[in-house]
Amino acid sequence: MTNAVLKLERIKRSFISGDRELEVLRNINLDVMKGELVGLVGPSGSGKSTLLHIAGLLDRPDQGKIRFLGDDCLQLNERKRTLLRRENLGFVYQFHHLLAEFNAIDNVAMPLLTAGVSRKEATKRAIELLDRMKLTNRRKHQPAQLSGGEQQRVAIARALANDPSLVIADEPTGNLDWETTSEVFEAFIELVRQKNASVLVATHNRELIERMDRVLTIRDGELVKI
Ligand code: ADP
Ligand code: MG
Repeated sequence: MTNAVLKLERIKRSFISGDRELEVLRNINLDVMKGELVGLVGPSGSGKSTLLHIAGLLDRPDQGKIRFLGDDCLQLNERKRTLLRRENLGFVYQFHHLLAEFNAIDNVAMPLLTAGVSRKEATKRAIELLDRMKLTNRRKHQPAQLSGGEQQRVAIARALANDPSLVIADEPTGNLDWETTSEVFEAFIELVRQKNASVLVATHNRELIERMDRVLTIRDGELVKI
């Protein structure tokens, strides 16, 4: 297909543990189309995070090919790969990784400032994203002054700040408080749909899984449709 945002071909990744080789990904093939929401489910240890790290250009496979926005990513040098990641990928992790000494606005604005957007414009966009994540009254709070769920909503806003083509999320709901979970999902999905961004998310959350266009699991190192 021509408009795959991300294309993984015959990806292999093993780890050495002791004197054994652990083949986590044996033959991963995946096309994520523009605007497509793909869910990744499956037991702990099946390789979801390993796959997301590779898809997010944070780790290199032992073998295989990665095309992202048409670039043959494994052929790019580290600087180009970092730029591609910074400008076109958004990440949400299980733990928020927010900067402790900055407030919510500044955390969300950070990727925009790094990309060269003016402070005024970055602040404006950060405020808008925080509003959509129902954090209007938490804008000036630092991470330590927020609940786990609120921190995660700031992290989601930050991941979307630079309008990424692909959002990669690794168990993003691990820490979300139940009262706001569906509200945040709705806002998240509405935003990515509106921006026509693609999503690759590893999750156990049924509600989130139900909103995906396609759900896959890793079985014996290969992706299988559910
Ligand atoms: P999941 O996210 O589905 O729980 P992971 O991708 O984190 O699974 O891990 C898959 C398997 O690979 C696990 O058995 C894990 O212990 C192993 N693994 C992951 N990263 C490393 C690493 N850096 N070194 C050695 N083993 C690893
Ligand atoms: Mg994991």
